Amino acid sequence: MHVLIAGGGIGGLAAAAALLQKGIDVDVYEQATELKEVGAGIQISPNGNRVLDALGVFQNLRALSCDPERKEFRLWNTGRPWPMFSLGKTVVENYGYPYLTVYRPDLHGALAQRVRELKPDAIHLGCPAAGLAQDEGGVQLELKDGRSIRGDVLIGADGVRSVVRNTLWGPTNPEFSGMVTWRSLIPMELLPAHMQVSVGSTWIGPGGHVVTYPLQKSKIMNFVATMEGRSWNHSGGSAPGTTEECLSDFAGWHEDVLTMIRLSPSLLKWALACRDPIAQWTQGRVSLLGDAAHATLPFLAQGAVHSIEDGLVLARCLEGVASTGVPAALQRYEAARIERTSRMVRGATANTERFHSKELVTEERAEKYLQSEWSQSPIFERYDWLYRYDAVNTPI
Ligand SMILES: Cc1cc2nc3c(=O)[nH]c(=O)nc-3n(C[C@H](O)[C@H](O)[C@H](O)COP(=O)(O)OP(=O)(O)OC[C@H]3O[C@@H](n4cnc5c(N)ncnc54)[C@H](O)[C@@H]3O)c2cc1C
Repeated sequence: MHVLIAGGGIGGLAAAAALLQKGIDVDVYEQATELKEVGAGIQISPNGNRVLDALGVFQNLRALSCDPERKEFRLWNTGRPWPMFSLGKTVVENYGYPYLTVYRPDLHGALAQRVRELKPDAIHLGCPAAGLAQDEGGVQLELKDGRSIRGDVLIGADGVRSVVRNTLWGPTNPEFSGMVTWRSLIPMELLPAHMQVSVGSTWIGPGGHVVTYPLQKSKIMNFVATMEGRSWNHSGGSAPGTTEECLSDFAGWHEDVLTMIRLSPSLLKWALACRDPIAQWTQGRVSLLGDAAHATLPFLAQGAVHSIEDGLVLARCLEGVASTGVPAALQRYEAARIERTSRMVRGATANTERFHSKELVTEERAEKYLQSEWSQSPIFERYDWLYRYDAVNTPI
């Protein structure tokens, strides 16, 4: 069994590690000439950490990451706090693993290291996928440089603008959501003492929200600020922005938010793309994984976590299967994953209104809104099913 993976992001590498661990041969074809991730943070909830532990990277990653005490809401203008949920020990008691906040390059690097431990030459850089062809006996990944690689399975883990997905299902590139997200990393020591906390905060207000959490043993504060009703005139999905531009997007917000913008050494802005879940991922010997399969708005912080879950479930479905059994195994993989990932995508989209509601305009109206939308019972309904999932043992 030889699996070809297009894309060496978090999802592609997690899948490669999971497959190699099960004794299945893998080659990963990554378009970039250097393996790297965005210099930003990522939240890895217990369901993701359970998989990372099964892949042998959890302990190393935990040593580099943060395990915040809690998540809380803050009101955009007054800063009034509102509890979301306890993290730390409570999450471990409930779900078996912590909720970590991680520097993306640390996660990506740990996965790449694990893949290379299992197969030193598994990752091929500077290899953009351009197309594919399949027949009864196998599948071919066509690379942009004209080479054609043959294997038993092809997995498109090539992100939100997936060539594999577009080849299977026609061009369906995601649409700009009208939301722009600002990202920066602020050295913790620059922040005023009251802001140097190990807490995940979501500042919510009419039309926008700001997420902050600590990274790398609290040396860094991750800043992610989203505003809707924006236009996007840049050619790529991200572009550098200025402090003035970001301050103007968040004019009138709490002084702590403005302080973080002013103290950001640099600010990058991202056009947030979204797309409805698709009905099918698999054709014959080819399937999809991660953002290629279920691109999502990041408002449940589950896109990468679900791509990691995909990889392990995929490996479980392919384990012990002969080449002739690949199409059926990929159907089992899709059947095991599609309902959960579609629910996650819809849930993330639904959070847009909950984070950006006009009801948040004054403290009085916000109080009522938070009581109805963000009290303990709806929070449990929205998040418990995500964190409780066990990709290692879920029926396939
Ligand atoms: C602001 C923001 C915050 C987020 N926060 C979180 C969070 O806290 N927690 C969470 O779980 N998720 C989060 N996400 C979502 C997460 O980043 C994505 O879901 C995740 O990166 C998807 O991983 P992937 O491997 O599927 O795709 P990608 O990370 O996009 O990787 C795809 C890889 O394929 C390569 N590639 C592309 N085209 C080709 C080609 N033709 N041939 C070969 N290689 C190709 C790319 O270079 C890349 O290396 C966030 C997203 C954003 C935008």
